[in-house]
Amino acid sequence: MSIMTRGIIGQPYNLAMHSGLSRRQFYSHAQVLLADHDSARKHWQNESNNVQALVAEVGRLKAENEALREVMSCVVNEIPGHSNRNGNAPGHCHAIPGVWDRGNGAKTGTECGWCKVWNAAVAMSKEAIND
Ligand SMILES: [Zn+2]
Repeated sequence: MSIMTRGIIGQPYNLAMHSGLSRRQFYSHAQVLLADHDSARKHWQNESNNVQALVAEVGRLKAENEALREVMSCVVNEIPGHSNRNGNAPGHCHAIPGVWDRGNGAKTGTECGWCKVWNAAVAMSKEAIND
């Protein structure tokens, strides 16, 4: 920041008296600085509003995530045989958990969709709440 800028901001009268600027020049500089100040203030007010909106959105998303986690926990617990599945979904008993065994045609050796969804639901139901 130049001496003139500091003077205009901090001590305009003294600057005006000692700067050698004409009254018109001083006024012009002051107007530019005031316009910059107003522009910066508006910019930071907008940024502040954006941050506040983002914080509110994060809170909303956390609440939504917790609601979904609770739903997944209820779904998992309501399905018979939900515990101790060793990576297989209820009703499935793949030799390699989550992978179709031999004798299942084109599915052989591929990932089982039901087991994948089940394991995702179990993991989601156990997710820690992040604050
Ligand atoms: Zn399966």
